[in-house]
Amino acid sequence: MTPAQFRQCGHQAIDWVADYLANPQRYPVLARVEPGELTDALPARGPEQGEPPECLLADFERLILPAVTHWNHPGFMAFFANSGSAPGILGELLASALNLNGMLWKSSPAVVELEQVTLRWLRQWTGLPEDWFGQIFDTASVASMHALAAAREAADPNSRAKGTASDLVVYTSEQAHSSIEKGAIAIGIGQERVRKVPVDAEFRLRPDALAEMIDRDVAAGLRPCAVAATVGTTATTSVDPVPAIAEICRARNIWLHVDAAYAGSAAVAEEFRWALAGCEHADSMVTNPHKWMFTPVDCSAFYTSRPDVLRRAFSLVPDYLATAEDPRAVNLMDYGVPLGRRFRALKLWFVMRSYGREGIAGLIREQIRVVQSLAAKIDAHPRFERTAPTPFSTVCFRYQGTDDENRQIQERVNETGEFFISGTKLHGRFTLRLAIGNMATTQLHVDRVWDLIQAEAAKLAR
Ligand code: PLP
Repeated sequence: MTPAQFRQCGHQAIDWVADYLANPQRYPVLARVEPGELTDALPARGPEQGEPPECLLADFERLILPAVTHWNHPGFMAFFANSGSAPGILGELLASALNLNGMLWKSSPAVVELEQVTLRWLRQWTGLPEDWFGQIFDTASVASMHALAAAREAADPNSRAKGTASDLVVYTSEQAHSSIEKGAIAIGIGQERVRKVPVDAEFRLRPDALAEMIDRDVAAGLRPCAVAATVGTTATTSVDPVPAIAEICRARNIWLHVDAAYAGSAAVAEEFRWALAGCEHADSMVTNPHKWMFTPVDCSAFYTSRPDVLRRAFSLVPDYLATAEDPRAVNLMDYGVPLGRRFRALKLWFVMRSYGREGIAGLIREQIRVVQSLAAKIDAHPRFERTAPTPFSTVCFRYQGTDDENRQIQERVNETGEFFISGTKLHGRFTLRLAIGNMATTQLHVDRVWDLIQAEAAKLAR
């Protein structure tokens, strides 16, 4: 690609992005392809000779787009919906142009320092302790795995040299994200040593049950290593009682990790700061700007109040990476598994500066308001019921019929191409789940999806 071709195609690509962001509704929200269809449409072997740049853009539209499920579509209400905002997209573009690798301070001072600065701003915006150490990982799953590895180091300093002892135990609620269990698998704690603490009627971890489980394990000669609490569980967005959990951890000297991947962002709005109450006592925490802070995937903010322990767990400096010691220069490779590190902070910086705290708080606030108004309509409907409290912008509810009927409603709504809603199981029963996190989604979209849901339910009742 010559510089002239790059310039021309680059302009075309930006034009395409601008049109796309202005109107993602021109595509069905869910990809309408069968598994393998894209693979079959692509050559089985890579090209021997380079192809002209026009082909790349044309084939992006012709082949790739039909296989895209549009997270930027305002009708995307599944999982934890989000959107990659324009400033974030520009940040990604420039980051890939620079192609930096922030493994060491020296390899890229901008990557390391902007990461520290943006995470400091985020700490301030969400009311977290000033002195926490932050770094950006790709995902919350990887961040939580690092939290567990640090907890293992704190509980058993021999683990780094000798491997994971078989008596370490991790505790998390039965509503916690599977990434906690996977992290425990990855670092060798093992699935059998992950205790799933029961939840209360509102899907929050029960501190009494946690304390009992820990004490039972200690009496049996096991060593509690970490508790992972959740602020905004995946299914219902319930918030574990972190202050009480922190008390239990403190009294027993157990590492407390908080998974606030989704709901941590809500604390940017003052009235939702309550969600992070008690987190100041945590040893580590993760929140995902790529979930609910309009930052393109991937960008996961990981904090710890004990960076020395994390460093002890992971610092390993081969000769070819050794640089002069300077306490002012943080080498992020010392604080985790990845050596290479993308310039993720640039897009976060663009997003934070472009919207400001007030702008982001306003978007989040409005999304919560819209979902709360839907929750009220569900409550008022004689044939629908909410299946969980609705603290944020995600609502779980069901038609008062069978699981199959609820699945049918979900499928039919999703077949329209206008919306993508998901489902989950609560108390063993299928429940519809609608999550708003896309900045393009408005009251109108939520009213429309609710009309469709009611219409499908009415057809069932006939
Ligand atoms: N934690 C919670 C509460 C989540 O809801 C999710 C994903 O939805 C994750 C962790 C995993 O996030 P990631 O995809 O960044 O690993």
